[in-house]
Amino acid sequence: MDLESFHRRSIDDPEQFWGEQAALIDWHAPHRKVLDCSKPPFTRWFVGGQTNLCHNAVDRHLATLAESAALHFVSTETGEQRSLSFAELHREVVRMAAIMRSQGVGRGDRVLVYMPMIPEAVFAMLACARLGAIHSVVFGGFASRSLASRIDDARPRLIVSADAGSRVGKLIAYKPLLDEAIRIASHAPEKVLMVDRGLAPIERVQGRDLDYAELREQHLDTDVPVTWLESNEVSYTLYTSGTTGTPKGVQRDVGGYAVALAASMKYIFCGNPGEAYFSSSDIGWVVGHSYIVYGPLIAGMATVLYEGTPLRPDAGILWELVERFKVTVMFSAPTAIRVLKKQDPAYLTRHDTSSLRALFLAGEPLDEPTAKWISEGLGRPVIDNYWQTETGWPILTVAHGVEKTPTRFGSPGKPMYGYDVRLLHEETGEEVGPNEKGVVAIVPPLPPGCMQTIWGDDERFVETYFTSVPGKMVYSTFDWGIRDNDGYYFILGRTDDVINVAGHRLGTREIEESISSHPAVAECAVVGVADQLKGQVAMAFAVLKDPAAAVPTEQARLALEGEIMRTVDRQLGAVARPSRVHFVTLLPKTRSGKVVRRAIQALCERRDAGDLTTLEDPSALEQVRKAVGA
Ligand code: ATP
Ligand code: MG
Repeated sequence: MDLESFHRRSIDDPEQFWGEQAALIDWHAPHRKVLDCSKPPFTRWFVGGQTNLCHNAVDRHLATLAESAALHFVSTETGEQRSLSFAELHREVVRMAAIMRSQGVGRGDRVLVYMPMIPEAVFAMLACARLGAIHSVVFGGFASRSLASRIDDARPRLIVSADAGSRVGKLIAYKPLLDEAIRIASHAPEKVLMVDRGLAPIERVQGRDLDYAELREQHLDTDVPVTWLESNEVSYTLYTSGTTGTPKGVQRDVGGYAVALAASMKYIFCGNPGEAYFSSSDIGWVVGHSYIVYGPLIAGMATVLYEGTPLRPDAGILWELVERFKVTVMFSAPTAIRVLKKQDPAYLTRHDTSSLRALFLAGEPLDEPTAKWISEGLGRPVIDNYWQTETGWPILTVAHGVEKTPTRFGSPGKPMYGYDVRLLHEETGEEVGPNEKGVVAIVPPLPPGCMQTIWGDDERFVETYFTSVPGKMVYSTFDWGIRDNDGYYFILGRTDDVINVAGHRLGTREIEESISSHPAVAECAVVGVADQLKGQVAMAFAVLKDPAAAVPTEQARLALEGEIMRTVDRQLGAVARPSRVHFVTLLPKTRSGKVVRRAIQALCERRDAGDLTTLEDPSALEQVRKAVGA
């Protein structure tokens, strides 16, 4: 079938369409109704159906895949490696569930997971799912204040953590951060379960802190049956990355999420049971939830859990892992590829990546030069996909399990089944035509897998997402897009990132793309800065592929700046020309690898840069501060 009719059918008759997809997972009891959208914009999928995510990710495979690999853990930080079959994963998850249950954790209770990328983190998530407890994973190593605000929002009965994580060879002791967070928080958990990796000392708080290894010994053979949940009960809450402001606590269901992931594994990622899936994200992000833990396992695939960076021990490590586990589907982010772009391209071909059917990239706009560089360098297909924490799975991409739609550089592709995507004029709310810019919006009902609401705040959910387009109750992605004559979409950046230069509206992304096309540039960020004459002007920050060689002198720096400006002039016209191109060695990014334009802009305008506790490396912002003399 062609993608267009497949998509059409999902929009015209969602009940029929998703009713069929429901058969991709196991149900303990069938649904009474596929879709209930009687209280818009709230959506309930598979009403009355009973299922369980852990059952579908683990137990279900015991009949056919018990001895097949389920989890490959590799840490290039500590040198550990460990593989578990589905049977072994099942045993460990049941043990973890038994430990949690012994501490009073049950259906509807929250469990906060503050863990590095180790198997026990996956056990903990799946154990929660098994018990019907709601997990809230917080990126390991977040500062105490960020962690405390999430503790207060989730009010967990139990926190699962570990002694330490490691990043680029640097140990990050979690326990002191956690203790401090609990001290600041207003809602302390009853218990803290600590996994001891033997990396950092653990100071135990008597009566509160528990030792995982000790309790595991006591529950080696305890049986914990799956708790069957109604499809619309809550599986987890997870925060958005906080790129544009205060993170929002996204809440997800059980049945809709399981069906959405199973369908995406079939139609989009095209993974088969017994194969290996490698996502280089982190369990602290939505990609980690959907495509490190639940998606691959639901599909009967082994998932690669990687603690490490793309550069250690060398820039070939990601491809070495592909070779080692014969990975067929890989998922990474443009930011990781831009890191590799500063390295010798020979690393791309040093390992046998022929098992790889496709490399999926998401999280930020994938600029054309980077897309070309990686797909040509690897000789494997690269598939951009666009989505959000809120949606849980791709909104725009290609679905090669439906039709071999060709990809187009710079475009994540076309609307996926289930998403009624529209581009709307931000002031009139009217649909715009081909090649016209509009806000990317989704007409409800949102498909299965998308957020149910903001945890504990239905009003904020409606207010935030469904009231920004005038006159219409549509979901706004807060991204800016354009569609070409063939129906391919292009994301132009966040609605916050549109700048207005002397009456011309420009997406910062367009300017960034143009700057990135200069051969000396590895990556860049453009922000709009208030200007008395023009309203706003573009200001650019560029990281060079080889900073030392490219601008050895002030004269060379000026020459390169001029060259880059002329590149933008040529491609977009003089209105888009940045007023300055500053050269830095790092861009300020969130821990999920997204450029924090709001903070850069604030510094350029001499304002306070806001909450910086979730930034990857604060020194990057210092460089910006110095460059603009703030
Ligand atoms: P917050 O909402 O808290 O500001 P965030 O939007 O960065 O944080 P995420 O949900 O992790 O949090 O990111 C989703 C956003 O990332 C999208 O709305 C879009 O701006 C960007 N994005 C993701 N994938 C792509 C892609 N393939 N192309 C372009 N942009 C993308
Ligand atoms: Mg967002």
